[in-house]
Amino acid sequence: MTERHVRQSFLGPHSEEILAHTEVTIVGLCGGGSHLAQQLAHIGVGRFNLVDFDRADVSNSNRMVGLDAAAAARKDRKVDVIRERILAIQPGAQVAIFAAPWQEVSDALKFSDVIFGAVDSYRARDELERFARRYLIPYLDLGMDVHGDQAPYTITGQVILSVPEGPCLRCFGFITEHRLTEEAQRYGAAGGRPQVIWPNGTLASTAVAKFMQLVTPWSLDRPAFYTEYDGNRLTLMPSRKLQALQGHRCPHFDGPLALGDVVWGQADRPVPASTP
Ligand SMILES: [Zn+2]
Repeated sequence: MTERHVRQSFLGPHSEEILAHTEVTIVGLCGGGSHLAQQLAHIGVGRFNLVDFDRADVSNSNRMVGLDAAAAARKDRKVDVIRERILAIQPGAQVAIFAAPWQEVSDALKFSDVIFGAVDSYRARDELERFARRYLIPYLDLGMDVHGDQAPYTITGQVILSVPEGPCLRCFGFITEHRLTEEAQRYGAAGGRPQVIWPNGTLASTAVAKFMQLVTPWSLDRPAFYTEYDGNRLTLMPSRKLQALQGHRCPHFDGPLALGDVVWGQADRPVPASTP
């Protein structure tokens, strides 16, 4: 074990090596994703895939850790800002960047050990979870919301872990057809939703804790699938929805056809052109 890991040696005798060989994907690099990247770099994760098609600007400065004023003024790509931060913390890390919608680069993400989703919409979460499930990759989703039109406001958030055989975002009622439809109708109507740095930090730290429970043997506790954040009372609690799902089998990702690359059925195949 190197000196860099001395103070976290309780994570396990091989934890340094495990972390160095762990490949994480972070989709969304602003409020939540920037915290995730920073913490994972400090903790010693060796391989990163960073995905965000957006450029940073001054409106991100309130919450994107690692974004300095000059980079915000230049409108640097978020992937470049965060890669630079990771390499400053850990020069030996392998950092692949994708300044594109994740769907366009999904082939490069199939070998991830864990995928973190710090994305805005239900639609994005739904698609990202489906992708992760197809390749049997644990998916960690985090998000926060500010509710209300005037003071007093309410802040809520959640970190959800979706693993093969476990309950999914739909099992929890977090993704519903109603929410997807409502969101699609609202799309483009309002500007960006309110976001602040401290709930994102709390939620990202919680997601990193779950990740560490997954990949290192320091705790016998399995990470909770669903943790709820009450941003007014400042509490983090396992969701009550977990109790209702004891012994539940997820019906949404079932059967071998739901795994791996999409295989088209016989009926979907194009009819071969006849040769003259
Ligand atoms: Zn399910």
